[in-house]
Amino acid sequence: MNLKRWLILLFLICATFGIGGLFRNIEAKVKDILPANEEAQFSKLREEMVNTQIEARGIKDRRVLEAMRKVPRHKFVPRLYQRFAYRDFPLPIGEGQTISQPYIVALMTDLLKLTGNEKVLEIGTGSGYQAAILAELTHYVYTIEILPVLAERAEELLKRLGYKNIVVKCGDGYLGWEEYAPFDAIIVTCAPEEIPQALVEQLADGGRMVIPVGSNYQELMLIEKKNNQIKIRNVIPVKFVPMIKK
Ligand code: SAH
Repeated sequence: MNLKRWLILLFLICATFGIGGLFRNIEAKVKDILPANEEAQFSKLREEMVNTQIEARGIKDRRVLEAMRKVPRHKFVPRLYQRFAYRDFPLPIGEGQTISQPYIVALMTDLLKLTGNEKVLEIGTGSGYQAAILAELTHYVYTIEILPVLAERAEELLKRLGYKNIVVKCGDGYLGWEEYAPFDAIIVTCAPEEIPQALVEQLADGGRMVIPVGSNYQELMLIEKKNNQIKIRNVIPVKFVPMIKK
């Protein structure tokens, strides 16, 4: 066949099947394949994160490790930062706020010693990631976020991921959540300069609270309430965003 005939044949093929349609078809096929690969990659990175950043640093509780292996951290960070979601540092989540470094999330969770039936209060919902980790470990999670944009976004995402045991509220964490108090565990993921009194009051007897306290840098504190006495232990120095005063 000479060139002219080839061109006519090519024209007829394109006219019959539609070149645009052909490309759209290929594009759809590639899109079908990509997310599956991406999820598999993230899952591999998550496994590595748990092994090298969390287990290697001494977190032993099987349930905490399992939760960290399960929750898809990349879905809680902006698309732009997703590829860094399993790295050993905090990441921006918008509104000047950050999602904590994975190890700090695991350590704080571990300190709460959750067994499955505790009522937990989180102050500082942020992306919702810490709340999701807690929800893997106990039945009742209440979380308060002061910034409406973040509260809404987290609530929507947690719902989309199927979490039914997390209640999100937009409000001021300094006041705690009187309606559902007392709490068996309280976790504060923003830093007040002093331990908020309302939170101590809303901690159940026998309960545990983990909270970073200080201004520029903070001390991560574990507070235990026994027979209405408070015992405070400093765990490690940390850096958190400040707890906003209204
Ligand atoms: N736990 C979050 C990280 C939170 S960063 C996560 O897993 O993504 C700290 C969050 O605390 C921010 O979203 C900030 O807006 C919120 N915050 C600051 N001051 C607060 C206050 N007084 N009450 C409730 N939330 C507060």
